[in-house]
Amino acid sequence: MELTTELAAIGATGRLGIVRPGVPSTTIVAAYGQPSAEERVHRAHEWPRWLHYSGLRLLFCRCRLLETAVVEIRPEGLQLPDAGHRRVDTPAAPVTEPVMTAALAGAGCPWEVREHWNIGRDRILWTAPVPGAEVGFSFTGPGLRASGRPVEWSLRTLVLSRAVEHDCPEPGGT
Ligand SMILES: [Zn+2]
Repeated sequence: MELTTELAAIGATGRLGIVRPGVPSTTIVAAYGQPSAEERVHRAHEWPRWLHYSGLRLLFCRCRLLETAVVEIRPEGLQLPDAGHRRVDTPAAPVTEPVMTAALAGAGCPWEVREHWNIGRDRILWTAPVPGAEVGFSFTGPGLRASGRPVEWSLRTLVLSRAVEHDCPEPGGT
């Protein structure tokens, strides 16, 4: 599948294979194996915790349910664990905002644009495909490259996250 078609499908369904908000960490580890890296959010607590699988980073809450998935769009393509296999799609060119919106329109998926200025300049296209999930396509701004050539907004990360408040228990003792 072409990269943009695949990304639009994620925007339209709120899932990437078995990866969807609320999926238990045990399901992910059973399918993907042990992560290449793990990272605690708070040093004193085992969970919440990030599990890294190549270009895919997954944040699980204290109940060990998926809170957020971050997919890095790298120049060499999208690298995802796929039931033990690495699937790599190589884009012919950077995924620009017009390319992505055309793919979303093709998938019949509406989106909303929000700009964020707090951490550099970011522009995010959000979709809300199913209750409880939202997908953000994060673009970095033009004019940030040193080459002097004008650069369009290009896709840097894709974020899949829980869209509803989740009643996660407080960590014990704090
Ligand atoms: Zn929780």
